[in-house]
Amino acid sequence: MAQEKDMLGQTCAAYLRKSRMEEGMDSEEVLRRHRQSLTECAQRHGLYIAEFYPEVVSGESLYARPQMLRLLEAVEVGRYDAVLCMDLDRLSRGRMKDQGIILDAFKDSGTLIVTPEKVYDLSDEIDDELAEFKTFMSRREYKIINKRLRRGLQRSIQDGCYVANAPYGYKKTTADRRPTLEIYEPEAKFVRVMYNLYADGYGCQAIASQVNAMGARPHRSSAFSRNSVAKILRNPTYIGKIVWDQKTHIRKNAKGNLKHITIYNPPEKWTITDGLHPPIVEKEVYDKVQDIMAGRYHPAHNDGTVKSPLAGLVKCANCGGNMQRMVMKQQPYLLCTRKGCCASAKFELVEERVLHHLEDVLEQIRLKQPAHKQDLAPLEETLAAVSRELQAANRQKARLHELLELGEYDLPTYRERMAAVREKLSALERRYEDAAHRLEQAKAYNPTVQASNIQAVLDAYHTSTAAQKNALLHSVIEKIVYRKEKKTKPADFELEFNLKIL
Ligand SMILES: [Zn+2]
Repeated sequence: MAQEKDMLGQTCAAYLRKSRMEEGMDSEEVLRRHRQSLTECAQRHGLYIAEFYPEVVSGESLYARPQMLRLLEAVEVGRYDAVLCMDLDRLSRGRMKDQGIILDAFKDSGTLIVTPEKVYDLSDEIDDELAEFKTFMSRREYKIINKRLRRGLQRSIQDGCYVANAPYGYKKTTADRRPTLEIYEPEAKFVRVMYNLYADGYGCQAIASQVNAMGARPHRSSAFSRNSVAKILRNPTYIGKIVWDQKTHIRKNAKGNLKHITIYNPPEKWTITDGLHPPIVEKEVYDKVQDIMAGRYHPAHNDGTVKSPLAGLVKCANCGGNMQRMVMKQQPYLLCTRKGCCASAKFELVEERVLHHLEDVLEQIRLKQPAHKQDLAPLEETLAAVSRELQAANRQKARLHELLELGEYDLPTYRERMAAVREKLSALERRYEDAAHRLEQAKAYNPTVQASNIQAVLDAYHTSTAAQKNALLHSVIEKIVYRKEKKTKPADFELEFNLKIL
């Protein structure tokens, strides 16, 4: 069963059609019964039925099935997360060549097929039962249908809708019944890491290793590679754009070729438009990354020399961006690269504070040694509490559907409430991840190992080069969050440390 849990709150269509067995029975009565069953099925899955497509005429050919054609256009542009029908046969019945078209539309848009018996995810390519439906279609028929579908696609382009599968960092969603993307924070945070590291002068291979070590997993393989990172760094979707014409498809048999051929078009052939979806990456960071890729700009330590011992470690509390070392009036400063974001500080003051913190930590560990064992109970309680809140929010979400189905809510009210619940859910998911991470770290914590690591860093620090200092600090510090209000004294900044647990 595919994605049972994930379907909660998603939008679907219901396709109604008589089966071969029911031929000769009263159409109205049959479709009314199916409507009832599918509504119950939707409730079970927590799906919201946006529209019914009742097929009254029962033709064998696709052209004699106007509702199916209408549904296919919507599926092709990804309007629905799922389509409900009584059984797979209901969708795919007809001559074999139609089935190829129908199933391709579901597969390409990542739309699920939900029957009372089973959930099918055609983009997974695991459902063997479906293999038999795959079949060659005639060129002429494909062309006619393709033309209709392209017209639908053209409309989406103008609307800023997103029709392909959601890229890493996003989930598909609908806004005013138009398909678009919403940020999926557990992945989006890694997208930002990739962009920031690249802007800091790291290569794609190093970034891939870094995010893999941080627990990032791409959608279609087990780990990020240099290529998959480069692909993410070049994708304008992350600044809220939609890209068309990245690929040209030549269908099987279209030009006498035996296989389906995909041609990757160069960026100058892409069409880029504004999307409806929110950006994950700042435009400035994105542009800087593109400049570095095109060789128009070389980041400070791309020449192999790291000038800042704090490179990649200190993040701005306001925007989350990397704080940079920059020399102004012959004095090195640490500043946020976003204009007017937060006040800068003298580099040495920050560096000094970092070293002092490490000394403090070392001393504290030594004082508590050797009997010190961290109490896990508070962390476990936090995790349990967040988990309960998450469950409550999920129940609330399911309840919204019920209220809508019962007619207690009209659609605008439902949407408004649902948006609020979704926001709450994503904040809770972030808190849950954070709490789970802290607990995991606490369980793995070994004070003796940490103390000896910090000692090694402090011992070697003052005789090291900037690059070595940077590597030393990276070995014991995960990140440092920097905060300073404008017009405050030079030393009035706060640092929040997140040490590595070894
Ligand atoms: Zn900032």
